[in-house]
Amino acid sequence: METLAETCTRLGNCYQSYRRTQRSRIVIENRLRAEIAVDLGYYSRLDEAKREELFAQARGIIDAITSGEEGHDAYRDLVESTHLALDQFAAREKGFKSTAEKIAKKLPVAEWATAPEQKGFGLFSLAKIVGECGDLTSRPGKPEEGGNYESPAKLWKRMCLAPFSFREQTHMGCTWRVYGGRKEIPALPASEWSAYGYSGRRRSVMYTIGESLLKANDGPYRERYLAAKVAAYQNHPDWNWTDCTKCEGNGKAEGATCRTCGGTGKKSKHAHLHAMLLMEKLLLKNLWKAWNPRGSSMRRPCPGTSRRNPPPRSVQGRFQRDVRETPAGRTYLRNRHNIRPAVNHGADTFSVTESIRGP
Ligand SMILES: [Zn+2]
Repeated sequence: METLAETCTRLGNCYQSYRRTQRSRIVIENRLRAEIAVDLGYYSRLDEAKREELFAQARGIIDAITSGEEGHDAYRDLVESTHLALDQFAAREKGFKSTAEKIAKKLPVAEWATAPEQKGFGLFSLAKIVGECGDLTSRPGKPEEGGNYESPAKLWKRMCLAPFSFREQTHMGCTWRVYGGRKEIPALPASEWSAYGYSGRRRSVMYTIGESLLKANDGPYRERYLAAKVAAYQNHPDWNWTDCTKCEGNGKAEGATCRTCGGTGKKSKHAHLHAMLLMEKLLLKNLWKAWNPRGSSMRRPCPGTSRRNPPPRSVQGRFQRDVRETPAGRTYLRNRHNIRPAVNHGADTFSVTESIRGP
């Protein structure tokens, strides 16, 4: 009987084979197109429009030959023989995909992944995430046992849905990558990139999953997407808003609230990408919960025990009044509802008031 960790490893290997084959196929496709475009007069110093035009022409020739049209004899042998190879790669890709789905079906979350609420997700998307992340089990402090995802936040970070802070600025990976070194955003040094652990490939896997959810899901994920878009419309009037194409700006489509703009009648690319991000985060959070039904095994620190973990604002005043010292050197926090031991951070007289107010 295979353990969960073994199933995840087998799935990971199969997914890597799928990805490798897919990459080889794309490289060959691109080479074939480039070969014909160069023959048609393409060279790198041409202006962009002309380069695009020659590539489109090359694509047209390839499509004509593969769909059985007469003519283009100068390229026929090249295209036909390359496509014989491409078919082999495509068949291998399909085989790996189907095997990955079969392995994913053995995962305890398979039923969750194929439930109607997750429409648009499915077994292959699950296989991709497990292929990129491994075992999603929460085993804090035991990386040697595989999965080390003690909270959904770890999963967000691994799949590049978490922002990164550097020199008092916090941005998402694509902003650091595209605008780093420009627009008053510092360029991230290599050491910071490595601390961030950002991967364009993993981000793109999540984006593809998001696109598929957006197309097929009319349940919780579409709701999350719409809620985020509506909130963005209310909170960010400075984003570039234009009329929603679906409802032509009136917020209603087919007599109901428009499912594209959430009833605001407006669209903005910035808001769309932001809403996609939040929808993808919800998916990973739900996947993590389904994978770890008993929640995190990490002991949560009690509120108010460190600068990073301050008490809720509503009780801060009460904490300040009720800090006590005990002979054992532990500080007790008291509020109306409970008394909890707080961590003594090594200081002789650790003051919680200090941790709330800052030094
Ligand atoms: Zn609309």
